Parts: sequence; C-alpha cells; structure tokens
Amino acid sequence: MTGTILAMLLEEPGQPLKPALLSHPEPLKGEAVLRVHACGICRTDLHISDGELTNPKLPLVLGHEIVGTVVAVGVGVERFSEGDRVGVPWLGWTCGTCHYCQTGRENLCDHARFTGYNLNGGYAGYTSADARFCFPLPGGYDDVRLAPLLCAGLIGYRSLRAVGEAERLGLYGFGAAAHLVAQVARFEGRQVFAFTRDGDHEGQAFARELGAVWAGGSTEPPPEPLDGAIIFAPAGQLVPTALRAVRKGGTVVCAGIHMSPIPAFPYQILWGERVLRSVANLTRRDGEEFFRLARQVQLRVDVETLPLTDANVGLERLRAGLVKGAVVLVPPGDP
Ligand SMILES: [Zn+2]
Ligand SMILES: [Zn+2]
Repeated sequence: MTGTILAMLLEEPGQPLKPALLSHPEPLKGEAVLRVHACGICRTDLHISDGELTNPKLPLVLGHEIVGTVVAVGVGVERFSEGDRVGVPWLGWTCGTCHYCQTGRENLCDHARFTGYNLNGGYAGYTSADARFCFPLPGGYDDVRLAPLLCAGLIGYRSLRAVGEAERLGLYGFGAAAHLVAQVARFEGRQVFAFTRDGDHEGQAFARELGAVWAGGSTEPPPEPLDGAIIFAPAGQLVPTALRAVRKGGTVVCAGIHMSPIPAFPYQILWGERVLRSVANLTRRDGEEFFRLARQVQLRVDVETLPLTDANVGLERLRAGLVKGAVVLVPPGDP
C-alpha cells in the first residue's frame, strides 16, 4: 500500500476537524484494510471532539460506524478476503484475558481499545481494523444505511435487551438509535412511547411514522405507566423523569456514554424495585444477534448523507438536533 489517503483529523479537542493526508494504512498482522464507503456520525464523536471523553489518541480519525470493502488483509486473517463488505464497530480490540473478557463481558474489558477514540476510525477514505472485531453485513441495505446500524443500531439493541420484557417501552431522545430500536421493539410486539425535546413536533411525527403509539415532549407524562424506558439523550435530568414514568419493577436504561449530571431525586421514585442501569459498549455477540435480526426485519434506516469533508457540518447538525434519523459521511470517489 503506497500513497496517501484523505482523512478528517481531530488534532485537539474543542477544535474543528481538519482535512489531512495520511499515509495509506498497511495490512498488519490480523488486520483488514478497508476502503471506506460510508461512516456514520455518532453522538459519541461529539463527546470526543468536545473533550467530554478524555484522553483520546491524538491526532485522531473519528468514526466508529464504518462500512467498507476489504482491499487487503494481513497475515492470519481468514474470516475475510478482498472484496468482502464488512462493518467496523466501536469495540476495536479487547485483551481476552481480564476478568470481564473471561466472563463473556468483553464490552467491559479493562484494556479495551475503541475505534475512532483509541484507534483511528472511519472519517477517512481508507482505514484498518482488527478483523476479529469486524462484522459481515446483511444484504438488502445499501452502504449508507448500514453505517448507523454499527453503533446506533447495536447499542440500541443491547439497551433493548437490558430493559427486559417491557411491553410498554419509553424511548427518550428520538435520534439515530431510537428510530432503529423503535422498529425492533415493534417487531417484538412492544408498544413504543417516544419522547423528544419539548415542542419538536417534527420529531414526534417521525416517531409515529415509525410505529410509536404515542409521541410527546420529554416533560410530558406518558398516557399510561411504562414498563421500561431507554434514555438516549445525554441529559441527566431525564433520569428522574423516566423513573417517574416507569411503574413498579420497571427498568430505566441509560444508553449514552456521557450524560450531564443527574439531579438528586426522592428515593420513592426508585422504590418498588425499579432498576436504573447503564449500557456500555457492545460485545461481538450483540453484533451477531443484531445483524441476524436486521436480516430478518429489514429496518427502515433514515439517513442524511454528507461528503467526508463536511464532517464538521454533520457534527454541528447533530449537536443542534437537526438530524432526522442518522447522518452519514461518504468519502470522495465513491458512487
Ligand atoms: Zn457510537
Ligand atoms: Zn479484557
């Protein structure tokens, strides 16, 4: 591999990404080199570029919702070969030996490395990844629609499993993850109650379109008590709000990697065996299960696409809450 590739580079948190030419990734042992066709922008990318998640690799190529074609593989890679379409998720590497790795919870690995955080990601024309952590992707979806499944879909899926059997399910924050989870939840026979920013009637209409039985502002109480809720918005004040909306025995899952401080709340709203928990990262097993489901369900994935060089525009649109569904970057030279 020779020559250079275009990437959008984070040099310093708090600064906009800058276009840069990097040397072409080499197919190191165990790795696959991919030509990137699409890379989703996740809210986590905002938390990294804003410095809310500390100690990223610098300079850094963000992006952990990568869809690409394998152009070269390193020694020892047998899972994939040239021409395969694969996805690269947030979990980029685990140690395999720590307590968590040994007990089926590699998402909590003490030494995990994450794509687009500790490892260069997909805001680039090419990238490389440890082949053991890449996923084969289902047919029936084009590249830009597969990208949001790699994190929004996967974390949404893990959150849905964490919320348990909840038949009446609240989703707080109706963005990339919720618009996918709502469809999986419906497929499983659940009723979805969608909470958006107050006054976001467009977001509420979008939620109803995707099958929510009710949609309203996050300060509104649901029309009936919920059995469980998932909070996707990074707003700590939603924790007591969601606990109040959930009936006895219900679970509230915080799905984001970062949240503003949670205000104090009376014990009474947790009492009655309500459960409050977070969901962190993903396991490869989550990915296998979720992509099997995505083959079966054929999700509607709403995306807006931007050229790679407009990554800063995409980040700002996400920050401002202007994105309906997900925003996906497309490197130049791709049809
Ligand atoms: Zn993400
Ligand atoms: Zn480990």
